[in-house]
Amino acid sequence: MTNLIFVGTCDFSGKVRGKAFPAKQLDKRLVRGVGWTPTNVQITCFDEIADSPFGAFGDLLLVPDAKAGFTAQFGDRTERFMLGNIITLEGEPWDFCTRALLVSALDRLYSLSRVRLLTAFEHEFQLKGESSLIGEGYGRLGFEIQRPFCEKLMDQISEAGLIPDSIMKEYGPNQYEVVIRPEVGVHGADAAVIVRELVRSTALYFGEFATFSPILDPASVGNGVHIHMSFLDDLDQPVAFDSEGPCGMSELTASFAAGILKYLDRILSLTAPSAISSLRLQPHRWSAAYNNLGFRDREASLRICPVTKRDQASIAQQFNIECRAVDAAASPHLALAAIIHAGCQGIEDGLVAPSPTDEDLSLLSVEDLATRHLIRLPESLEAALDHTVNSPIVSSWFPEQFIPVYAAHKATEIAHVAAMDTSARCSAYAKTY
Ligand code: GLU
Ligand code: MG
Repeated sequence: MTNLIFVGTCDFSGKVRGKAFPAKQLDKRLVRGVGWTPTNVQITCFDEIADSPFGAFGDLLLVPDAKAGFTAQFGDRTERFMLGNIITLEGEPWDFCTRALLVSALDRLYSLSRVRLLTAFEHEFQLKGESSLIGEGYGRLGFEIQRPFCEKLMDQISEAGLIPDSIMKEYGPNQYEVVIRPEVGVHGADAAVIVRELVRSTALYFGEFATFSPILDPASVGNGVHIHMSFLDDLDQPVAFDSEGPCGMSELTASFAAGILKYLDRILSLTAPSAISSLRLQPHRWSAAYNNLGFRDREASLRICPVTKRDQASIAQQFNIECRAVDAAASPHLALAAIIHAGCQGIEDGLVAPSPTDEDLSLLSVEDLATRHLIRLPESLEAALDHTVNSPIVSSWFPEQFIPVYAAHKATEIAHVAAMDTSARCSAYAKTY
């Protein structure tokens, strides 16, 4: 039997697309890759092709990265997966390669502050089968019923070279959450893709279907992606924490956080980019409805996470901020690239730490919010896209054609669901994510 390796990219749609090649060709493929088509980036999550400046023209290469992927055993079936970089035939990173866009954001951060970003993506997802269990939010039985799935998943995560942290039965029906330890740089987003794909494959192995759709039922909870972030300096020392800083944030963290919050409305179309994402991003959903900073508060777009350690050095190792305005309709690479650029803008502009909020923001008037530099985040994908497209500063962070091409992609996705009511939209997204 021919062993195949699937090389993929997690593209604008947040889906992993690629091609498979015989494993014995790996050495050659690590150099030459597989052929790739520019217009593929305009395939939406509903398999329609949005307006593409490339049309039927052009050729690219999708080159597997030996350091990003997994081999997973499911019974007598072996899955081999590698993430790749899309390059031009001349060998340059392609302007629309999500991984290249993240690398360029990370490079900006490094040249500004001489730090590397550590990230851990926390994922919530739901198994699609009917659950007869009621009242199993964080429940023991809710976990036990899926223990074989959870154990197999954690095994595969370890096999992939990642470090599992924890897994649990989340609050929603058939909802679970998996957490891994942080990875440096581009590998943080790679790990997010790997975890998503392992969840899907492990679920299939047990005859289940996993969905990461941002929300299945507006009457219930959403599936969030929470990105935990901290920084390492050149000596691998953690530099996100300063015991004297506001809420423990170092000056770097504070400016980075302020940048994310300032530009959050303008990057939301990249971090929570589905036509149902806004159903999750509402007050009282423990997600992210305003551009607020929370100190250990789960009703915040950006949360300063708790630390359990006591001594300063250990606190510094643990200290991180968590961006909650993200979902799995987004490519982790693209979402993270946008967040880093916003943070870098905060550093470049010398923004200072915003004050954490500690009340129900939904009770404040728009004026009261405004005096505290707070806004309600865009309440539809159309509105979020408008904020992105109309922001010269956001456009300046990306290659010239990136925002128009991305906007055309999302416009086709919006048109696909335009005539659907909320419940039909949720079903459509549950099928594709
Ligand atoms: N389900 C919530 C979300 O959509 C998060 C709940 C939590 O883990 O704090 O982000
Ligand atoms: Mg959770």
